[in-house]
Amino acid sequence: MTKTEILLALNSGCTVRHQYFDTNEWVRKNDDKTYILEDGVICLISEFWKYRYSDGFNDGWEILPICPCCKGTGKQTLKVSTFGSNKSAEHIEINCIDCNGKQLSANEVVQIFKQKEYEKNLWCSCQNIEPNDVKYIEDGKSNICKKHHWIHTKCGKITQIG
Ligand SMILES: [Zn+2]
Ligand SMILES: [Zn+2]
Repeated sequence: MTKTEILLALNSGCTVRHQYFDTNEWVRKNDDKTYILEDGVICLISEFWKYRYSDGFNDGWEILPICPCCKGTGKQTLKVSTFGSNKSAEHIEINCIDCNGKQLSANEVVQIFKQKEYEKNLWCSCQNIEPNDVKYIEDGKSNICKKHHWIHTKCGKITQIG
């Protein structure tokens, strides 16, 4: 895959490697500013790319078969609180919604990542939307989203579903 594609994949939580890497080496996003490497080393994103500027790094990337959501643990932790209860929020563990606790193939990870990219691009990200510019779309009236939803008519993207 190209660097452009792999930057999106990294942003979606995918674990990736380049053909120049040793077979056990990989990189994954840690937070907004850093990546984490297979040996636990954390490095600044800017620093990582500073040393990988050559043309060879514009292509030759691959996504590893590790779930981008749970990073292969098969589990997700949710913070839940009961509405109207004064008990403090508790953490519950559920099967990961993306992989359902199963080992994914690299291809399946690519599908999950592309689906997420696609969904992200459907959402309006405009600032200061005028209430008059939001329109209601009934169930089944749009090919983009089957469920009823609201769109921002200035950009044509979704502002709310259901
Ligand atoms: Zn998962
Ligand atoms: Zn918009």
